[in-house]
Parts: sequence; C-alpha cells; structure tokens
Amino acid sequence: MRTRQVISDDHFHDYCGVVGVYGHEEAANLAYLGLYALQHRGQESAGIVSTDGNDLYAHRAMGEVEEIFKPDVLNKLPGSASIGHTRYSTAGDKALLNAQPILIDCNKGKISIGHNGNLTNAAEWRRKLEHKGSIFQTNSDTEVVVHLLAKSAARNLSGALGDALNQCEGAYSLVVLTPDELYAARDPRGFRPLNLAKFSAPNGQTAWIVASETCAFDLLNAQYVREIEPGEMLRISKSGLESIRFAPEKPHQFCIFEHVYFARPDSTIFGRSVNDSREALGRQLAREHPVDADLVVPVPDSGVPAAVGYAMESGVPFRMGLIRNHYIGRTFIEPSQAIRNFGVKLKLNPVRGLMEGQRVVLVDDSIVRGTTSRKIVRMVREAGAKEVHVRISCPPTISPCYYGVDTPTREELIASSNTPGEICRFLGADSLGYLSLEGLRKSVNDTRGDFCTSCYTGNYPTDLVQLEVRDGAGYGKLADTAAVTVEREA
Ligand code: SF4
Repeated sequence: MRTRQVISDDHFHDYCGVVGVYGHEEAANLAYLGLYALQHRGQESAGIVSTDGNDLYAHRAMGEVEEIFKPDVLNKLPGSASIGHTRYSTAGDKALLNAQPILIDCNKGKISIGHNGNLTNAAEWRRKLEHKGSIFQTNSDTEVVVHLLAKSAARNLSGALGDALNQCEGAYSLVVLTPDELYAARDPRGFRPLNLAKFSAPNGQTAWIVASETCAFDLLNAQYVREIEPGEMLRISKSGLESIRFAPEKPHQFCIFEHVYFARPDSTIFGRSVNDSREALGRQLAREHPVDADLVVPVPDSGVPAAVGYAMESGVPFRMGLIRNHYIGRTFIEPSQAIRNFGVKLKLNPVRGLMEGQRVVLVDDSIVRGTTSRKIVRMVREAGAKEVHVRISCPPTISPCYYGVDTPTREELIASSNTPGEICRFLGADSLGYLSLEGLRKSVNDTRGDFCTSCYTGNYPTDLVQLEVRDGAGYGKLADTAAVTVEREA
C-alpha cells in the first residue's frame, strides 16, 4: 500500500513567517510573493487576508504557498492592504482550524491577526477567559490576543491591542489588519524578528511592507527601512506611519537560533547579515576545533555557510561532498513496502569520488536527536571517507524552546542526557566538536547580551517558563557546552 510519509530532518523548526502590505493595489499578490520568500519558516499551511477598505477577505489552506495561491484564489482577495502567514505545525496539530491569519468580527470591528512566536501564558489566560464565558474557536495561543482585545475598554484599536499585548507573556511578532489599518507589533524582548520596508506603488505613493525576514523585501524590490522595535506597535494608515510604544522594553532576547539555522542566509536579522554570522560561526568553530583533514564538507543546505567559514579559517579545501535533492519536499509517497526506509538517502547523496580515502570535516548547524546525523556519518563512511570529524556550529542543544519554535521534548534532545563524548560514539564519528556558547555569541556580535540562548543553557528569561521547567520535566544531565573536541574511542 502506498503511504504518505513525513520526512524528518531532525532540526528545530520555526513555527511561522508573517508579512503585511499596505498601499498597493495588488496587496494580496505582493503578500503571496512575500510568503513565497518566507516558505522556509513554515510549510504546513498558509493564509492571506486582504481588505478593500470595507471588508476583509480571507483564504487559508493546508499546503505550501505555491500550491494554495493559484490566480483564481488571489483574484478573490482584492484591495490595497493585506497580511499573510505561513505556518509549520507538528504532526498531530495540522488542522486547518489553526491556520492563520485568524479573522474575527468583534465589538472592535473586523480584525485579522497573523502571529509568529508563542505566548507562554496563553494556557493560563485561556482557562481564565473560558471560565468567564469566552468561547475559543481554535487551539492557537494567538486567539487569546483576540479575546483580550475584545474585552479591552480602550476606545480605539491601538489602545485595545496594547491592552491585550500587555497581558501576554512570551514571544510575538504580529501583523494585524482592519479594513483601514495595518499594524505590526513585536514583544518587548524582541524574540522573533519583524522588519519594515518601503517601495513605490503604481500611483506614485509610498507603499509599505512588514515581514519576518528581509529576503521577502528583495523579491519585491522594496527598500529596507528598519526593524520594528521590541515593545513597539507600528500603525500604518492613510495618515502615514505612527510608532506607538505599547510596553516598556525589557532586556532583549533575540533568538540566536535565527542566525544559526532558521533564517535564510540572504536575510538581515536583528540588524546583522545572517550569512556573515554563519561564516563567522564556521571560522570560530575552526579556531576552537581544528583537525588535520583533507576536505571540509557541509551538510547541505543549512551547513554550507558555516562550512565555508571553517574552510576559509582552516585552509582545508571546501567541497560539496553531499548533494541534496531539492525536489523531495517534506513528504513523499512511499512506492511500496519492498523499498521502504530510504531515510536520509532520499534527501542526500554522497559524491563518492570526492570522499574516497579522504579525511573529512563534516560541518552541520545543529544536532537535535542525533538520528539523522548518525545516518549522514554512516553515508560519508560508506562513500569511502577514511575519517569523519563532525563539527557543529552551535553549542549542544539541551533544552526545548517555548518561544515559537517546534522542538522535541527535553528527553528527545540527545545533548540533554549525553556528553559530547557519548554523542560522538553514537554518531560513529572520529571526533565531534561543538561551538562554545561564548564563540556563538562572539560570532553574532552579541556584545551586550541581547540574544536568547535558552535552548543551550536551560535558563529561560520568562517567569512562567521557569515555573514550568521547575515543576515539569527537570533538567536531566546537562551536556558540557565548553569548546571541547572529543575523539572516538578506539
Ligand atoms: Fe531561539 Fe533557542 Fe531562545 Fe527558542 S530557546 S528563542 S530557539 S535561542
């Protein structure tokens, strides 16, 4: 029997990407292009809501952006402002019900919201609100914002949104659309990115676009203006731009993993080029974990910039010893029982001629469960490599994320209960070197402690998560995050 299988790439996954467009008569088409550029931030569902100044028009569906938004669908999304959302969700949580943007009609009028992040006090608010009679339509934490907004006594939407957001804890980069306004807001710690750009509309007026990543602007030839500041709400309307500070800034907690893995290397995130960060990670990795070798081989695609940096710093030649099949997507139809378990071979294939008899430095961005890394090490050995030295461009990932990233449980994270030496043996590598936390911070130029590193330390910046961690799973055996290269036992 043919079955559809989800291919796990054993990575953390960003939950979402958001985009908002204001002041262009093809707003829905532009949101579509923006979502297309943000597809890597979520492939399970996508949605666009547009407005013609009177009403809001929505389309949400499961699947990838290109599959969902055919011309006949986009033609039903008129108007000069729009918001879009692309979502990743875990296997048990794929309901169209939870696809965004959410669209509601409440006492504040028609409002649509797209959210990147995760509210750490959503469950508590949901309990309280349901107790008082609120009826929730989705399982999404974003709906809490909607109910709090509807309950606000503020007379205008910016006041009500500020009221609602001030009662939320955790991570949110939001786009909000009404028939005549677009809002973009970012939580006071700034966990997730949100950027602003401008471009010329056909009528000669300035049009505006906000997006999770700047790669969405390049596709539209839009000019980057700035980030939405942590604790800032930007209101875009016929009157222009208005910056509203709805909450005092808190110590910044920019997600460092955006620079390690999530964001596209051609984006600028938190004011810094992602590609520059990744090459710097690779250079630092080479300084911390040098090894006598013949080739530096990345695990494509995400390991490429760090491998380039490692090769430049070490002088060991960079070669594409593994080729990725870009056409497989996240799922595939298994042809038959007889040829099951292709595993990682469906995605990656070694270039045998490059690796035969060579001492290979294999560079990847992270190890989550370790199962995929183990298969890749085996693949490189089977392709004839004499030695395989694994180098990881971030510290051991020991703790889950509560700020808008899909992560396995602490128990499933191999580094939460195994030392780098034990992981090296599990992978079957000749040596294993993780970047140190200090090296990671240095590589993203974090001189002021502006970045969240909770998944590497187990220390969370929000109170409720700390409680959850203390009361819940516990820390287990924390891995050593220092810059120690471990060798395989003979
Ligand atoms: Fe990013 Fe890790 Fe912090 Fe989550 S815990 S926001 S993945 S750095």
